Amino acid sequence: MCGVVGIISSNKPVAGELYDSLIHLQHRGQDAAGIMTYNERFHIKKGTGLIRDIFDEQNMSRLLGKVGVGHTRYPTVGGFSIEEAQPVYTHVPYGIAMAHNGNIVNYTDLSKEVVEKDRRHVNSSVDIEVILHIFAHAMESNDRASDSSEFFDQICDSVKTVYGRVKGAYSVVSTIMNNGMFVFRDPHGIRPLVKGERKNDDGSVDHIFASETTMFYALGFEPTGNVLPGEVIWVEEDGTVHSRIVEEKQFTPCVFEYVYFARPDCIQNDVSVYRSRLRMGQNLANNWKNKYPDVLPDIVIPAPSTANTSALSFANELGVRYSEGLYKNPFIGRTFIMPGNEERKRSVRYKLVPQEFEISGKDVLIVDDSIVRGNTSRQIVKMIKEFGAKNVYFVSACPPVKFPCYYGVDMPTRTELTAANKTNEEIREFMGVDILMYQEVEDLKEAVTRKGEHNIDRPCMACLDGWYVTGDINEQVMESMENQRITERSVLK
Ligand code: SF4
Repeated sequence: MCGVVGIISSNKPVAGELYDSLIHLQHRGQDAAGIMTYNERFHIKKGTGLIRDIFDEQNMSRLLGKVGVGHTRYPTVGGFSIEEAQPVYTHVPYGIAMAHNGNIVNYTDLSKEVVEKDRRHVNSSVDIEVILHIFAHAMESNDRASDSSEFFDQICDSVKTVYGRVKGAYSVVSTIMNNGMFVFRDPHGIRPLVKGERKNDDGSVDHIFASETTMFYALGFEPTGNVLPGEVIWVEEDGTVHSRIVEEKQFTPCVFEYVYFARPDCIQNDVSVYRSRLRMGQNLANNWKNKYPDVLPDIVIPAPSTANTSALSFANELGVRYSEGLYKNPFIGRTFIMPGNEERKRSVRYKLVPQEFEISGKDVLIVDDSIVRGNTSRQIVKMIKEFGAKNVYFVSACPPVKFPCYYGVDMPTRTELTAANKTNEEIREFMGVDILMYQEVEDLKEAVTRKGEHNIDRPCMACLDGWYVTGDINEQVMESMENQRITERSVLK
């Protein structure tokens, strides 16, 4: 999972606002980040680690120009070095810079093809570079366009070539030297991409494209909806906007954005993430009342902080006190997106501190957003017990995660997923709780799609039900991606 942003302004430099935007997207990736702008030439700064550690006054002052792209990285394909940080760029046939959020399913084949057939040089193991070369190669086969309309046709044709060759999920934000910014989203719209506008005093309009709306308010942008699945949008330097749906398929945005990744104040695909989490808690509570009418906990505690919203509505629905019985140190990163399991295990106790007065002698119900590997949940339960809870119940706002994600979320190996290898009863025992209850798949879907003027056909829930919308995930692909992941991890050790 990554965060991506692009800003094109008619009258002011964008580097500062790209930095601010990345701060508002930091929760989507903490491994590396980069900003690339242009005026008469490209300017780039990339680094590993947190945004605030990469950028400073000196390197920001070099990022000149009114058009630029920013990226914060959480790796799914590729390693953890600066070479894998985005944006990436090429000078042929134009100066093109690109950043994306997503994952390519057929990366291994494509990276070979790009070198052997397209004769382009691949300089990293990051999948956006393959998209960049396929796009640039397609643009190269055109004669120079005589006007904007012809140039937009060429961009759309080249994106169509990308759609034809690149399988998977990707939202791409890109600049073309002297020609502004263009963006596109995969035909199923699996990864998010929102857009916004800001009117300037002189009547001109600035444009923003981002993974989430989280920075819009701070920067004065009004949300204007989403880049649609299969849509290409090109904003010229003079502010002229061109858009076209290049390919239409079933719209299946990632359900995990609502469960875990997106910030709750964000609207994605015209659905409020916060409201969807409230509905997850409601549905979960109704299910609890049906299954365990005689079990009423003394307090409901969220596993902070993604589960706070669902736990709040769960407690309300049950008529039980909501308690912040686990204090979260806000200065420690999200455990799920830290590379390496050892780091994850160690960090739970640094991050969460149980409050004895809230817990001791009580029947405690913990609400978590999901159980992926199960280690964090197990440690939370252990801590709650150590602080004197009588009975511990655990509910997950997300159904069992049984299948790997090949669309940009870091859970690719089946052996890592606890629900892929254990029954619910075995997981309950492993976690050491008295009752374990998961959200039903249909209830999660209902929570996301109940309200909002959205046009979601059905969220992607492949990690829950094994139905991969792109239709190209078979045993061979699974093995190849898992091996790739295992190799990358062993290189890191
Ligand atoms: Fe999101 Fe799961 Fe689909 Fe991956 S498989 S895109 S995590 S819903």
